[in-house]
Amino acid sequence: MPFVRTTSLVLALAAGLPIASVAAAAAPAADVLCPAMPPPQPAAWVAHIEEVNRGLGIPPDYAARHDLRPEPEARDLVQVPRDVYGRKVEMVAPAAAALKRMFAAAARDGVKLETVSGFRSMAYQTHLVRLKLKRGMTIQQALKINAVPGYSEHQTGCAIDLTTPGVPAADSSFAKSKAFTWLQQHGAEFGFHLSFPPGNPYGYEYEPWHWRYIAGSASVTASHVH
Ligand SMILES: [Zn+2]
Repeated sequence: MPFVRTTSLVLALAAGLPIASVAAAAAPAADVLCPAMPPPQPAAWVAHIEEVNRGLGIPPDYAARHDLRPEPEARDLVQVPRDVYGRKVEMVAPAAAALKRMFAAAARDGVKLETVSGFRSMAYQTHLVRLKLKRGMTIQQALKINAVPGYSEHQTGCAIDLTTPGVPAADSSFAKSKAFTWLQQHGAEFGFHLSFPPGNPYGYEYEPWHWRYIAGSASVTASHVH
């Protein structure tokens, strides 16, 4: 909304306010990384998501029926510990910082957490779904395993798939691990929450390995971690 911004800028200048404070006040909520609920996305982005999903044969009402909301795609990413195969893993900065604190706290409790997958672009997510279709899955089967492109928490850079030594990546046996018990007890202290519990409304299978960082939800702040 350039008109609103210009108006508030003019008003601020007239009032003698520093410009920086105006910019901060005018920043839309969409600029907050990892909110609990994604803000409404720009129409062009939503149209792109819908077009891609049409191309995959996803019913147009699929997202609405599963209570899924279009997610933004992260732009500025930082590296987190490499995955179990030694590949680079990225998240947005606040999520990466919280993950680092959580990994350190887990290590102090004798629990080794490892990454499997962090940020994934919408294009890559589309590729993953296409692979499943090529292997003969129906789109309904594929969408129980892979998030609908454009609606994936991985696209925001706020979600991370985790594992621990002895457990295969993205395997349901993670739910029986000491690491999972630790995450259930302590994840929220660092702002990490289980996105897809059994019977979730989004149509995804139970994913004990998938945790999402929500800004402002950590109950233990950096200064409390020794
Ligand atoms: Zn995941």
